[in-house]
Formats: sequence, C-alpha cells, structure tokens
Amino acid sequence: MELPFAESWKIKMVEPIRKSTREEREQWLRDAHYNVFQLRAEHVYIDLLTDSGTGAMSDRQWAAMMTGDESYAGARSFFQLKDTVTRITGFDYVIPTHQGRAAENVLFSALVKAGDIVPGNSHFDTTKGHIESRKATALDCTVDEAKDTQLEVPFKGNVDPVKLEEALKLAADKIPFIIVTITNNTAGGQPVSMENLRRVRAIADRYGKRVIFDSARFAENAYFIKTREEGYADKTIKEICLEMFSMADAMTMSAKKDGIVNMGGFIATRHEDWFEAAKCFCIPFEGYLTYGGMNGRDMAALAVGLDENTEFDNLQTRIHQVEYLAKRLDEFGIPYQRPAGGHAIFVDASKVLSKVPKEEFPAQTLTVELYREAGIRGCEIGYILADRDPVTRENRFGGLDLLRLAIPRRVYTDNHMDVIAVALKNVYDRRETITRGVKIVWEAELMRHFTVQLEPLG
Ligand SMILES: *Cc1c(COP(=O)(O)O)cnc(C)c1O
Repeated sequence: MELPFAESWKIKMVEPIRKSTREEREQWLRDAHYNVFQLRAEHVYIDLLTDSGTGAMSDRQWAAMMTGDESYAGARSFFQLKDTVTRITGFDYVIPTHQGRAAENVLFSALVKAGDIVPGNSHFDTTKGHIESRKATALDCTVDEAKDTQLEVPFKGNVDPVKLEEALKLAADKIPFIIVTITNNTAGGQPVSMENLRRVRAIADRYGKRVIFDSARFAENAYFIKTREEGYADKTIKEICLEMFSMADAMTMSAKKDGIVNMGGFIATRHEDWFEAAKCFCIPFEGYLTYGGMNGRDMAALAVGLDENTEFDNLQTRIHQVEYLAKRLDEFGIPYQRPAGGHAIFVDASKVLSKVPKEEFPAQTLTVELYREAGIRGCEIGYILADRDPVTRENRFGGLDLLRLAIPRRVYTDNHMDVIAVALKNVYDRRETITRGVKIVWEAELMRHFTVQLEPLG
C-alpha cells in the first residue's frame, strides 16, 4: 500500500486556541460592528483573516533570531539576507523595507509620476494604492478566465498578452514599467505560468520597457510551475525561481508571505540606476540601506525562511493543505474559485448567498455567518473591499464577491481544515434562509474594509 501524505515537519511549540459560545460571538460581532477586522484575535477560534505575517517560523529561523547582528550599518544579518536573495533571484541589488507596501512606496517614489499608466495582472490593493496616490493609473490586464470562478485552468493568474500589447501600443510613453504579481493574489492566489512570464518579457523588450514582479508568493508560484507546467517536473524550485526572475528587472517583496516571517520586505533589482534612485527614498522613509525598517534578527530569520520555503517539501505540505480544504468543500458542493489557489480558498459568496442582493454585500454577510457559526474568521474580498468609484462615488459591483479563507503557513492541521469545511457546510445548508445582508453605517474614503461599520438587515 502506498503511504499517505503527511507534513514535512513536526511540531516543537504549540499555542492554545479557545472555542466560544454562539452568544459570546453574537456580542463580539455587535461590538465589532459586524466587521471582523474589529474583533479581538482571542475571540477567534481559527483565524483565516490573512496568511500575511501569520506563519510559524522554523527552529532554524528562531535560532537565526538569536544571532542577529543589530549594527546600524553593514550588519552581518543584512549580508546574509542579501546573499540569499541574490542566490534565489539573481538580483544583485537588495534594499530591505519593513514590509511589502514599503517596498512599493520606496521604489514607486522613484519610478511613478502623475499621468503614468502601470499595466499588470490584478494589482494588489496596496500596489494599486501606491500607483493611484501618485495620480497614475493601474491598468488591469489579467486574462478574462480569472473572472469565471468555476472554470478550471492551471494558470488563471496570467497576464493577457493582447491587453498588455494594446496598452503599450496606445500609451507606451506613459508606461514606466509593467508589474506582474506572482501568484496573482487578487484573482484568488492563482499562478502565472513561465510561458506567460516569457511572453510578458518579450512584449516588454519590444517596447523597451522594464518588468517588476510583485513577488509576495513567488515560491508558491514556482511550485505550481513545477507541478502544472510541461517541462518543469524535474527542475528544483530554486532552479525555477532563478528562471522566473530572469524574466524580471526588479521585484518588490512582502516577506510576510513566502518569506515566512512576521514582518519584513525588500526590493531587489539587477539595475544600478533603479537601485540608486530607490536609495534616496529608502533612507527618509525606511531607514539606512542595510536595515530599511528591519531588525538584524528579522533579516537573519528571513534569510533562512526564504531558503527553506524554496524547497519542494515545504511548499508541497503547504499547497497540499489548501487543496485538502478544497476537496472537503467539493464534497459539500460549496462553490469557490477553481482550482484552489496557493494561499487561500476564495468562496464564491454570490453563488452561496444568491438570495442576498449585491447592495447588501453577500460576501461580507457570509464572512459574518461563518464567524457566527464557529468562530472562524475569514475576510471579505468583494464589494466592500472594492471601495467606491473615485469619480461617481458609487459602490463598485463589477468584480467578484468572495469570502477568502487564507491559510497561515505551518500553523493549523488538517483537523482544523475539517472544522472549517463543516462550519461552512452548516452555513451552506441554511443558505436559502439567509435573504438579507448588511448595510454600511460608517465608512472611510479609501480602503474602507478595515474600518467599515455595518448593521445587519432583516
Ligand atoms: C501582501 C501583499 C503586498 C503588500 O505587502 P505588505 O507586507 O502587506 O505590506 C503586496 N503585494 C501582494 C501581492 C501582496 O500579497
């Protein structure tokens, strides 16, 4: 008999989590204005709010913390990080930052100006924010397949080369660079194929443009290339990473994802001119060039994390767990963005709560229901997150309305996945009785989902 699959690690330290009663959760929901960002974490049983900065570090990473060099300039820990980044990506110039959006802020301060257009595949919200706040436009060139949640294609995160070329034909002089997000977070943690990266590179070269990878989940992307794309089965993850990054000029990185640290990020590039330009913004915004907002010990732990998470076994354990949850949801017929993404399951709330009108935010309603059911905290990636149109101030109902269940790395077991699946099934079984959603009683002008206050209707 073939041995079953099991995790590629064992557990050395545990942290208790606590269940609650439905009455307690009702009260906590009221206190939080039905916005799960406003809940206390200790009132959450299984926390799937995000996979960002919530991973469990390994014993090697904790050991590295103890040997961190906290020198202001030229710390050994910086060089450990820089050498690791160079070895994995091929980029010689590395600037640490305190997280991914800080990397965007520093690099885009040097590269993006008013009136620019930055084409890419479903820019992440902070990426979009850092483009739009500079009065430039983030132009989405994702393949149309990403919009159909039930369509099963291996690389749903791809850039549509026709849309990209169209943008370059029309406005090449306004385009400072192309940005490709690997994996495509907003489209559901969907990967981008090597073939697609190659095509983007070829188009960029034809127009003399540079390419940046928004690389928060580059290792998970490499895993999907290895397991789904022809010709890569026998390559190591590190070989695939080098080949991916050979198609880019620079990267911004949120190390809180595939770096498996709780805080951190960096910029890396092969171009001295971009490095020189970014340097001038790193020092005032983040700090001196060899720490850029990070502790020495955090850079040391990140160096180890990057190394570990570009090994096949670690990634296989991770993706296997996400796929395991997907299989459980399949058993119950619960619709989600197919196939399962790298870091999360995105439940298609408009299909689950089809009786809740879109004006009453089905995905937010489902997020609240799942918490009410079992103390599980997911996150709305839908109409509330989409904010209002900056010109008309109308809600934007054009995109998908999803409940994201983000799985922290190396934190929960498959037993927790079973609890999540059954809790969602219980909500799914009573979906016909859920006909009313929530209304907004207070909202911020931008990124309203973090602080929005809601009231249940009906
Ligand atoms: C998380 C993330 C960012 C921003 O990184 P932070 O570390 O949260 O600031 C940027 N791009 C993508 C694709 C991300 O997932």
